Amino acid sequence: MRPANSVYSSLGTTIFTVMSALAAEHGAINLGQGFPDDEGPDDVRAAAAKAIMDGPNQYPPMMGTPALRQSVAAVNKRFYALDVDWQQQVMVTSGATEALTDCLMALLNPGDEAIILEPAYDCYRPIIEAAGAKVVAVPLDPPHWSLPHEKLEAAFSDRTKLIVLNTPMNPIGKVFTRAELETLAALIERHDAYAVCDEVYEHLVFSGHKHVPLMTLPGMAERCLRIGSAGKTFSLTGWKVGYVTGPAHLMEVVAKTHQFVTFTTAPALQAAVAYGLGKNDDYFASLASSLEAKRDRLAKGLKEAGFDVLPADGTYFISADFRPLLKNKKGFNGTDEEFCREITVKAKVAAIPLSAFYSSSDAPRHLARFCFCKQDAILNEASARLKAYAKGQTT
Ligand code: PMP
Ligand code: GLN
Repeated sequence: MRPANSVYSSLGTTIFTVMSALAAEHGAINLGQGFPDDEGPDDVRAAAAKAIMDGPNQYPPMMGTPALRQSVAAVNKRFYALDVDWQQQVMVTSGATEALTDCLMALLNPGDEAIILEPAYDCYRPIIEAAGAKVVAVPLDPPHWSLPHEKLEAAFSDRTKLIVLNTPMNPIGKVFTRAELETLAALIERHDAYAVCDEVYEHLVFSGHKHVPLMTLPGMAERCLRIGSAGKTFSLTGWKVGYVTGPAHLMEVVAKTHQFVTFTTAPALQAAVAYGLGKNDDYFASLASSLEAKRDRLAKGLKEAGFDVLPADGTYFISADFRPLLKNKKGFNGTDEEFCREITVKAKVAAIPLSAFYSSSDAPRHLARFCFCKQDAILNEASARLKAYAKGQTT
């Protein structure tokens, strides 16, 4: 029989599914895959329920309902002073994953190069490769994860069509600074390239830090496609409602991919997200502050268990160096993947190995990503289990 598509047939199952299944098998607390363990805001869910009962429930417009597109344009203005024409510059998708697919497929031709910054969210590479383009990966180094100016400059070439920028960045919780974005903008401009900006965690940024969309920098509005996700903004990851904002000349092509990927998105969910985006500033501020408190809670627990905890200024995730747990060499002494399996089975707490987000063999192998968007009691219990595990390793 002839082989199936080479990009997809060579892929394994995503690490998120693998670790969630292992967590379930061993009855572990799942701090691996990133999803909140509450049900999301009551009023947003009530708006969806009402919209289902009231209808319409048939195909909504291909670009998204006017109400949601207007809401997306309004939050662009409210939070970032971006002037966006909702009719020409906003499109609704079935999740940010679909938005990434639409944007990357719309921009890339076979033979183009696309830069990604590693550790990178796992869907970027296969989408780029399925479009026939080549991934050029630029690694960021722990513990500071600064933008490596020289390496990045060397990665850009005449073939560079675009860079994927994820800020706030999964898995490391990095929020790119304005100075880093300026460096990036200069390179994009110099090489006549585009940026696909994955900003799904835009509202999950902690005190002292500010999310700056690359699109707001001079010259960038024409070159950026900015992606958001209601899944993260309303703690409703199962809803899969995303949105893209971009210049009209690019959105026209992005709409062409969308029309043959999903065409449209459940109308009741669009109605509820349109309502949700209109919530007052307190909603957005308390979403960030409650997650910040959870980050602090888990960071403290991990430190007490003996981990070296890295900073996390946004997202659902914090990463930690597990080597200090193994000081006496009696305990665990293997790769991050083995460590994450070990704690899932023995400590009954699941995490994600950071090397899963790298393509090169010299990825860091001493870091695990923990998800902190969980109830306080769960975070406390996970910390207690990790402490007991670490104690068992060193006595
Ligand atoms: N990008 C990043 C960085 C993510 O962490 C996620 C998480 N799921 C997505 C995109 C996909 O978002 P969605 O669930 O809206 O497809
Ligand atoms: N974004 C989630 C994470 O990083 C996973 C989403 C998924 O499982 N596809 O954990």
